[in-house]
Amino acid sequence: MRKTIAVIKGDGIGPEIVNEALKVLEKAAVKYGHHFAYQPVLAGGCAIDETGQPLPKETIEACLASDSVLLGAVGGPKWDHLGGDVRPEKALLGIRHALGLYANIRPSKLFGALANACPLKDEIIGNGLDLVIVRELIGGAYFGKKEIIEKNENGEKAAYDTMIYSESEIERIARVAFDMAGKRRKKVTSVDKANVLESSRLWREVLHHVAKDYPDIEYSDMLVDNTAMQLVRNPGQFDVIVTENMFGDILSDEASMITGSIGMIPSSSLGDGSRGMYEPIHGSAPDIAGQNKANPIATILSAAMMLKYSFDLSEESEAIENAVNEVLDLGYRTGDIMSEGCKLVSCSEMGNLIAERI
Ligand code: NAD
Repeated sequence: MRKTIAVIKGDGIGPEIVNEALKVLEKAAVKYGHHFAYQPVLAGGCAIDETGQPLPKETIEACLASDSVLLGAVGGPKWDHLGGDVRPEKALLGIRHALGLYANIRPSKLFGALANACPLKDEIIGNGLDLVIVRELIGGAYFGKKEIIEKNENGEKAAYDTMIYSESEIERIARVAFDMAGKRRKKVTSVDKANVLESSRLWREVLHHVAKDYPDIEYSDMLVDNTAMQLVRNPGQFDVIVTENMFGDILSDEASMITGSIGMIPSSSLGDGSRGMYEPIHGSAPDIAGQNKANPIATILSAAMMLKYSFDLSEESEAIENAVNEVLDLGYRTGDIMSEGCKLVSCSEMGNLIAERI
């Protein structure tokens, strides 16, 4: 198989972790007889430094011309003083929008070898933890009409953001969740705030309608505040959680933390076609950038997700996941997941160890 992958290394630890993911991808390509062409492009702070913009036109064009996008992370203190439109993070919203990536998929899985990194008590995670959050990515309050009113009727400064969803926006994300549940444990929990928000009442109505098309999937609704609580009380009850943009943003960070390390969790953003953007959930970790200390596993697992979801290469994807498991079982750890009796390795050593086991 021949595929073109747009590669955005980004800022901070971005280049270090992406290099390790490329090493592993290339090993899988050689082993299974594929040809991946990597197209490096700029986005984020490094793009601002070079072009004055976080997301140059050439980057969007290269992403649109590619079969998929692999991203490290963007941003850092160097660009924190910049205003809204030229901030590095704008690049992420811009790519998601340009590629029509409306579904963000974030698995939270507890690795057996890292069970002691989970902050929850043993009896709570007794049944393990393996859930996926499907978050709507390009609607809701983050994209609805927003305004700062310099003086409201009381003479005060005020601001508002509009949480707005149409039926079709809700339906397409619902179908992503039900399709995914069909390949997993066949359970969907839809999260909303239907006791207060009109947009949530529409959300629930559409979800119930879509659920009728998937009679073999167990479906339930849950309010977002209860979900936040249930995630730490009994996370094993969840298989696929589907929710709107802002609730998903918050819940997916909570769900990832219960697995113990931010350096372990991959994510993918998908639209209607097979092209997606794959990235770790963490940021550019400026505190450890350039020191060869970062954990590259989240980015390596993101590359594995790319093989599965965008290229339909499940066997190759599993080979990468198994290699990660094996290296963890052997006791190799980067600093963020280090524990007593384990062997501390650098970012590049971790990449080598995983690549060697493909
Ligand atoms: P962060 O995720 O970069 O770092 C939080 C903490 O986790 C730090 O102590 C860091 O060292 C550690 N950490 C993160 N990833 C790690 C890894 N792979 N290995 C080992 N340790 C790791 O979050 P932050 O400090 O809030 O943000 C730093 C910058 O990243 C900011 O500019 C922020 O805007 C940006 N950011 C970018 C993305 C993205 O590109 N998708 C996401 C979140 C934050």
